[in-house]
Amino acid sequence: MKVPADSLSGPETGQGPIRLMQKLPQERLNTAAQGVAIMEKNRHHAIKYVKERRAFGKRIIDFQNTRFELAECKTVARIAKTFTYDFAKRHLQGALDTVNASMAKYWVTDMECQINDRCLQFFGGYGFMNEYPVARHWCPSRVQRIYGGTNEIMKMMIARSLWKFKAFRRQP
Ligand SMILES: Cc1cc2nc3c(=O)[nH]c(=O)nc-3n(C[C@H](O)[C@H](O)[C@H](O)COP(=O)(O)OP(=O)(O)OC[C@H]3O[C@@H](n4cnc5c(N)ncnc54)[C@H](O)[C@@H]3O)c2cc1C
Repeated sequence: MKVPADSLSGPETGQGPIRLMQKLPQERLNTAAQGVAIMEKNRHHAIKYVKERRAFGKRIIDFQNTRFELAECKTVARIAKTFTYDFAKRHLQGALDTVNASMAKYWVTDMECQINDRCLQFFGGYGFMNEYPVARHWCPSRVQRIYGGTNEIMKMMIARSLWKFKAFRRQP
């Protein structure tokens, strides 16, 4: 295909896939950041809902299980945010490598799905209705573990870095 010179992605031709691969850590950091945002949004929807909805004569938030669940969700969301900020800082310093970006992408998106699911559970049947944001967020969150390189592939990338340590290298 002929591409006009001013539409090339860089100074040399034939380097497109390499240039794309060089930007994958950024894409993965971006995916992690989206994961943090969705986690927080769903947590806030859930907190609002459990204060309004009543069952067995109580608000849902008055059940100890709800409080424990939300306490755990808040803790995980905080860890995910701090973890992602650390990678964002590395990115700004030009030091975000494939291994770190893979850790951010796989762990945060795994947690995103876990938190979304736990928050959705508070909505009971409404959690299955698209009128509710928690239901609409579920599917786009699920794909976060697939695109940008699946989370299994992220773990392969991280595992490769183990071979950098002498102790893990095969002896001749
Ligand atoms: C909504 C959406 C948007 C997308 N956007 C883009 C885009 O903009 N640009 C782009 O290039 N791609 C995009 N993709 C493609 C996406 O990156 C791929 O779907 C993804 O990398 C997985 O590839 P696959 O679908 O071929 O699955 P497969 O490679 O067939 O994998 C199937 C399953 O096998 C597992 N698996 C595969 N190999 C291994 C292995 N070696 N070890 C262990 N498990 C393994 C996978 O983890 C997965 O669970 C998008 C996909 C979706 C769904």
